[in-house]
Amino acid sequence: MRVGEGTCIILEGDVAERWVADPSRIYKLLDVSARYWGAEGIEALESYTVKLQDEPVGGGNSGKHWGECDAILMSTGAPYQCLEQTALAHEVGHAIVGDHDHKDPRWQSDRLWSLAVELSEGVSDCVVSPRWW
Ligand SMILES: [Zn+2]
Repeated sequence: MRVGEGTCIILEGDVAERWVADPSRIYKLLDVSARYWGAEGIEALESYTVKLQDEPVGGGNSGKHWGECDAILMSTGAPYQCLEQTALAHEVGHAIVGDHDHKDPRWQSDRLWSLAVELSEGVSDCVVSPRWW
């Protein structure tokens, strides 16, 4: 499925339908995250594919930005219950600004995770804890 201008969301493995049941939540998370990182919005991710998979993405990580392929991989495995709990907003940062050494002070800002907290409000089974990722 596509959200925004063209960001493609694909599922791999046994990803529960609830993860993508409401595309507007995915749109909002990507759009707000892209803006946090200085982009105009989700349009900055229009060439991207976000792959949700039930397996870990490798290297002990729950998410990975794969620049050569304009792809973001996110694990939907435990302990995550919903997209807002994952590090998707973090991986969007790598897509927008690169900075794989995390030198930009915005990585450490409370504002980054509080965006996910705000977006998760009112969503059942989706409690985002401070510094979840
Ligand atoms: Zn990172």
